[in-house]
Amino acid sequence: MTPSNSGHLAKRVAKRAAKQGATTSSTKLQKTTADDPARLGQPRAFAGEVGAGSPQEMRPNQDSRPQHRFKLNEKRSSGAKMTSKSGAIKSVANKEGANKSGAAKSSLPPGLYVVATPIGNLGDISQRAIDTLRRVDLVACEDTRVTGVLLQRFAIATPMTPYHDHNADRARPEIMARMKAGEAVALVSDAGTPLISDPGYKLVRDCAEAGIPAIPLPGPSALLAALAVAALPTDRVLFSGFLPPKSGARREALMAIKALRATLVFYESPRRLAECLADMAAVLGDREAAMCRELTKLHEEVRRGTLGTLAAAYASAQTPKGEVVLVVAGASGEQAAADDAAIDRLLRDAFATMSVRDAAATVAEALNQPRRTVYARALALAKE
Ligand code: SAM
Repeated sequence: MTPSNSGHLAKRVAKRAAKQGATTSSTKLQKTTADDPARLGQPRAFAGEVGAGSPQEMRPNQDSRPQHRFKLNEKRSSGAKMTSKSGAIKSVANKEGANKSGAAKSSLPPGLYVVATPIGNLGDISQRAIDTLRRVDLVACEDTRVTGVLLQRFAIATPMTPYHDHNADRARPEIMARMKAGEAVALVSDAGTPLISDPGYKLVRDCAEAGIPAIPLPGPSALLAALAVAALPTDRVLFSGFLPPKSGARREALMAIKALRATLVFYESPRRLAECLADMAAVLGDREAAMCRELTKLHEEVRRGTLGTLAAAYASAQTPKGEVVLVVAGASGEQAAADDAAIDRLLRDAFATMSVRDAAATVAEALNQPRRTVYARALALAKE
């Protein structure tokens, strides 16, 4: 944003704040509403029982209060308008700009408020997230029906606009224009933290380029929830998002990160869980891993074991339901050393009958190792 633009923006904000009798101080954001009508879900108690045998299994206490992910068909109050196929901005309020109690909303400083929302248990929403969603001018969300249910649950009347993979390029300029005009916009995804395998990166990037503040409201994310219970080291982590759906491309992607000495985290569809675990066991070896399913929900399950035991268990099991995160141990020092020793031995044998290039290609394929790594090693050995 140019200095003249930002001056213009500041004037508009001041004018708007004066009109609504609200402060533009960013410290206002830190406050929570004492009279918040939203009733948070009760925290869940976990029995933490570990099943016998391997892989280990932990299930939530079945007596704990169910926390279903907000459902699309949840009953809505009269006057609530959610969305149309055209994706026009909608309000769930009976009166725009007022919440259920009829109180006028106070404005927030302009900017993009990146708000994390629950991944299943509504009790995980923060008071600051509720307060912010109530006070922004607009909520940009992946699916107005999903977020509409969340807003309705907390009696939030803020209008919504869709922002998802299919309309982002069209919708972004309009959202940017509103922030440049002095509005506060919240970005949410269907669940969890926006931008984490969800839309939002380009919007945040455009804000950075335009000098518009992006304000994080941290909270739930399946990535962190899974890491918190996987029982694997968390000092170095690679988040790899979703692997390619086809086995060939998936194995190649796994090869590229095989040597990393960092815990690996993947999002995966339960439909592909068995084949993905089989590919992981084949490419990464029999490392420790954890399958984390339906975290924070009624049927939460954390199943730990080696990739081999997990792959075998799911090869013969019914396709599990729900949402899954896989956490896999990084390469160990010993494993890396064993791999290096095997590469050297096979390369030396191959040099007897092959060129350096052919030997590298043959050994890389035989040991399921990245070609580039083996070729570099072959060149070094050939010079010895
Ligand atoms: N932005 C979200 C976040 O911060 O976690 C992730 C969105 S990504 C499109 C959805 C994937 O996250 C799911 O396919 C699953 O791998 C994972 N996920 C979301 N909620 C989950 C849950 N309650 N338990 C396990 N995995 C979950």
